[in-house]
Amino acid sequence: MKELYFDAAVIGGGAAGMAAALELDTAGLSCAIIEREDGLGGILGQCIHNGFGLIEFDEELTGPEFAERMQEKLAGTRISVFTGATVMEMDTLPEIKTLYCYSARWGVLKVNAKAIVLAMGCRERNRGNIRIPGDRPAGVYTAGLAQRLVNIEGFIPGRNAVVIGSGDIGLIMARRMSWIGCKVHAVVEILPYPSGLTRNIVQCLHDFDIPLYLSHLTTRIIGRERVEGVEVTPIENGALMQEKAFIIPCDTVLLSVGLVPENELSKTVGVGLNPMTNGPAVDSMLMTSVPGVFACGNVLHVHDLVDYVVEESRRAGGNVARWLKGERPGREARVKAGSNVRYAAPSKVDLERDNKLYLRAMIVKNGAALEVKVNNRIVKTIKKNHVQPSEMLTLELGPKDLEGAAGVPDPMIEISIN
Ligand SMILES: Cc1cc2nc3c(=O)[nH]c(=O)nc-3n(C[C@H](O)[C@H](O)[C@H](O)COP(=O)(O)OP(=O)(O)OC[C@H]3O[C@@H](n4cnc5c(N)ncnc54)[C@H](O)[C@@H]3O)c2cc1C
Repeated sequence: MKELYFDAAVIGGGAAGMAAALELDTAGLSCAIIEREDGLGGILGQCIHNGFGLIEFDEELTGPEFAERMQEKLAGTRISVFTGATVMEMDTLPEIKTLYCYSARWGVLKVNAKAIVLAMGCRERNRGNIRIPGDRPAGVYTAGLAQRLVNIEGFIPGRNAVVIGSGDIGLIMARRMSWIGCKVHAVVEILPYPSGLTRNIVQCLHDFDIPLYLSHLTTRIIGRERVEGVEVTPIENGALMQEKAFIIPCDTVLLSVGLVPENELSKTVGVGLNPMTNGPAVDSMLMTSVPGVFACGNVLHVHDLVDYVVEESRRAGGNVARWLKGERPGREARVKAGSNVRYAAPSKVDLERDNKLYLRAMIVKNGAALEVKVNNRIVKTIKKNHVQPSEMLTLELGPKDLEGAAGVPDPMIEISIN
């Protein structure tokens, strides 16, 4: 068994893990990235469409190109990279943390570090999570799995597809399937508005004449050996209109019904979760409830843009360095998601520093106002031309905005959209 010591160890070598590690290296700390796949980049490797890096590199890149740019930055640093190594267990003693990694190359690799960064990304919700009734035929895939099959493994999952859920991965796969010669008959969405970015609705559905059924529920998957069709039922005024149900024949179903932070490993060491994000609850330094364990990227909350993942993860890396040098958060206030806000991350802000928050709306609205209250008093209002759940919002709060919380016991920041 190989045993190694670092100042910090990063679990996951996607955009988040690489960005956090780069920041740790810049701060002069020794660090390792442990990645279970054979290469770095995470989900970026299978996203061969463009639209990545507009903020970070001021260029429109594909996922693999974005990953390559990040890897170029790693070259020449002292960061130790272990690919093909899966972290299976963690010990988080106050003075030292240990990661037990299983790898075909080294057997068990024991990585000790003073701090850990969780950057394990997220996983797709599947048929079991949303309980679609019907048969259990072959031909049902999550959209991300289908994306991997097409873009990396070189397989065509089917010829006639229906996409369930209008999340970004499903929209991108509707276009990808059309490009490889499949007929995509429909995208079916339970909500009255799309779950994906507007640009993806236009570029992936409208440009390919793929119908989008909003307020429609997939009520059955049909087929014994292989998928033969799906039954779709409209929803009107909150009620299922069974008499209006119809069948769309197809041989393939792609599910794009949400992503959940990958938190199985985190839970084994008692990391407290935020029920609104399903990722770890973190303080203003992005540190979880376990001292010395930090989180960033999609493991913390599901991001729509890789640029925000990198920005947040850089901050996490910088915070680990500050924490290892003995810095601790100043006075903090809890952050509460108020009306029409699904969540705001992190769960706390530092009253003495500049903070950046990421939030998601629960409504679709033009001419909205983002409102920040400190102990029930409005301190900031920001006008937004348009808000929708699929587009993450950002909010900067500095000491000046938060001065009303000084001297108040257990201060609370509430963020609402009106
Ligand atoms: C289909 C799709 C399309 C997208 N399109 C765009 C777009 O057009 N523009 C844009 O800006 N953004 C886009 N995004 C978003 C962006 O690419 C992602 O949010 C970002 O790349 C996520 O980075 P991450 O590092 O948090 O997670 P990931 O990339 O998922 O990386 C996590 C890594 O952790 C590893 N890991 C997990 N558990 C372990 C373990 N126990 N041990 C070792 N390693 C482990 C995984 O193997 C993985 O490599 C898209 C995302 C998807 C899924």
